[in-house]
Amino acid sequence: MFDLAGKIAVVTGGSRGIGRATCVALAEAGAYVLVNYRANAEAAEETLRLIQEAGGQGELLGFDVADPEAVDQAIKQAYDKHGKIDILVNNAGISINQLLLRVSPKDLEMTWATNVNGAIFCAKACIKTMMRKRFGRIINLSSVVAESGNPGQVVYSASKAALLGVTRTLAREYASRGITVNAIAPGFIETDMTSELTEAARAGLVEQTPLGRIGRPEEVAAAVVFLASDEASYITGQVVRVNGGMHV
Ligand code: NAD
Repeated sequence: MFDLAGKIAVVTGGSRGIGRATCVALAEAGAYVLVNYRANAEAAEETLRLIQEAGGQGELLGFDVADPEAVDQAIKQAYDKHGKIDILVNNAGISINQLLLRVSPKDLEMTWATNVNGAIFCAKACIKTMMRKRFGRIINLSSVVAESGNPGQVVYSASKAALLGVTRTLAREYASRGITVNAIAPGFIETDMTSELTEAARAGLVEQTPLGRIGRPEEVAAAVVFLASDEASYITGQVVRVNGGMHV
């Protein structure tokens, strides 16, 4: 439905879950997808295989989003090869779940390094290339808990709320350059990140979800494709909530 032919997209954390589904959906819409991964090249290869199976094109781009030099180097390499980067999806994220009294400085440091700093490093590296073309789409994966809060997720929800601040600020900073910046706040989505929840916890989350089920990664990916498309050209600084009504 949405045509991304000729667009170059970078998806961080593309080796599994929402990132993988996003890579495939962007490629199906016609984008050439650079599948970022940190350590698991084999899983990223599988994403690339799924892209090709869907008739799309892409390649792997390994780097740790928390390492600013590695980010700059990889994005430069991609820019030198493709001449532009149109779409950045800041999807890479980690979730360390602890009640406040158990939170350690290390938990904060690690979460911030990937969820907040990583998104800023990637945006900074890509925005220079987008400004040259006066076109860009940055889509940040936040979370329902950024707005609703959730016991046991003080660090994670804070990092995802910070990402909304990043989104709103960059939207204002780069609107005049033809770059839109939006966030997606998924609810409870079936991925490796949520697979460790107990049956009771899952049932509780489903109960809080008016649509009465867990979401699929493809349902988040569809919102990414829309925000990346020309049809979303007048949307910036917004939060698209893909949460089955969990938070309204
Ligand atoms: P996931 O754990 O399955 O995948 C996360 C990916 O990020 C993995 O491929 C991982 O290797 C990668 N990653 C982590 N740290 C990285 C780093 N430093 N550099 C590069 N890559 C790194 O998670 P998911 O469920 O697919 O979630 C994707 C995004 O959506 C995350 O930002 C997550 O916080 C967010 N989210 C997920 C849910 C959910 O219910 N699954 C809900 C709300 C928000």
